Amino acid sequence: MRSAKKYKGFVFLMKAKPLMLIVLCSIIMASIPGLIFIFERNRRLIMISFWERESLLHYDVIIIGSGIVGLQTAIQVKEKHPNYEVLILERGLLPSGASTRNAGFAATGSLSELVEDAKHTSETALIDLFSKRKAGIDFLRAQLGDAAIGYTPEGSHELLRAAEAEIIGHIDHYNQLLKEVSGGNSFVLADEQIETFGFSPGRFRHCIACTTEAALHTGKLIKSLLHLALKKGVEIKTGAEVSHIENLNGKNLVLVKDGFHDSISFEAPQVIVCTNAFSKRFFPEADIQPGRGQVLVTHPIEDLKVKGIFHFDQGYYYFRNVGNRVLFGGGRNLDFTTENTTEISLNQQIQDQLIHLLKTELLPGQDFEIDMQWSGIMAFGTTKMPIIKSLEGNIHGGFRLGGMGVALGSMVAVELAQRIE
Ligand SMILES: Cc1cc2nc3c(=O)[nH]c(=O)nc-3n(C[C@H](O)[C@H](O)[C@H](O)COP(=O)(O)OP(=O)(O)OC[C@H]3O[C@@H](n4cnc5c(N)ncnc54)[C@H](O)[C@@H]3O)c2cc1C
Repeated sequence: MRSAKKYKGFVFLMKAKPLMLIVLCSIIMASIPGLIFIFERNRRLIMISFWERESLLHYDVIIIGSGIVGLQTAIQVKEKHPNYEVLILERGLLPSGASTRNAGFAATGSLSELVEDAKHTSETALIDLFSKRKAGIDFLRAQLGDAAIGYTPEGSHELLRAAEAEIIGHIDHYNQLLKEVSGGNSFVLADEQIETFGFSPGRFRHCIACTTEAALHTGKLIKSLLHLALKKGVEIKTGAEVSHIENLNGKNLVLVKDGFHDSISFEAPQVIVCTNAFSKRFFPEADIQPGRGQVLVTHPIEDLKVKGIFHFDQGYYYFRNVGNRVLFGGGRNLDFTTENTTEISLNQQIQDQLIHLLKTELLPGQDFEIDMQWSGIMAFGTTKMPIIKSLEGNIHGGFRLGGMGVALGSMVAVELAQRIE
């Protein structure tokens, strides 16, 4: 009996043990990556040195985002408080939103856009927005100088199709309304220019010159702001994505993920969020929608007639010359749903339409080749006014710059800097 039991036990062990061993080994093997991950994570979390903690993690003001608003805000904070230590944290190696990816229009708004906006906005609010844009452009010119930002005052033109002809009937009214801001007439009928610029005859019925708009060089503008910020002693860290801000006992911990550390905690009593379309992470309740903008630029074109900046279809399309190239962008209205995204990639349908319009309407009969295509992310909401908001714990935000942040950005920055104690 006993030996039969022993035999059964032996058979059971022989069958079960290898099974148990296999299960045990599998569990250990499966846990190894997890254990390595936890070990590695802890190692990275504690890899801050004493010196780093002493000198490199504490600031008076931390600004998140190095677009036009972030850079200008840092400059304005330094102007008011030269002794403050100011740090900008930028997630990209280059700014990665809209400020280095736009069309470079120093724009105050076309007539058709004003007429459209007036359907749901008071005239007082329209004048306010127009004058903020104008003031923002004047501010940049005075601060940095026209040469440094590639400002070329060739004016702008809005092209109107036959169906939009009634817009020209609003010229006198808006000239009157905006006289004080513009210091003269903002809009002048210039139909004769349609042929001068070489556009397809018959595609556009009217042309309105806008005296308050001009072109600038986006790259030069951002580089000039960057140099000024550095000159004033602002520190900038790129490749530093802020995951969240924690307000603890009156301190703001700004948690950053980079290529090496899972989380570094910077600290400042005051924080300013300048992340425009990416601001929901910090201001989840804000009325803000991302809107992607598509752009292309041609190779140089011989005898290019296009000079200055142009809009059509209520500003949904915009183009300009950059030397003897054409930069053309827009078409978001073709596919609002897809373009409501923070993803920086191309929409083929829109790019195809841009090329089609170049061939048929803007450069008819002219040979051209596309050199570059790109996109950037804007921020929109129910109104065109930017949001400037403060949360408890001295956390401020300036965002939702729409399609005219180059003009509006500096005024938002000035207001944000005023909130710093
Ligand atoms: C295609 C296109 C054409 C345009 N054309 C014009 C034009 O001609 N004229 C005009 O006035 N405006 C134009 N605009 C709009 C204008 O560029 C924007 O309104 C303006 O640049 C917004 O500036 P910003 O500093 O608020 O935002 P952004 O330039 O988007 O800067 C925000 C920065 O925050 C960073 N960031 C985001 N999240 C984080 C995070 N968690 N941690 C750290 N950093 C973060 C981003 O990488 C980005 O660099 C255009 C926009 C596009 C896309």
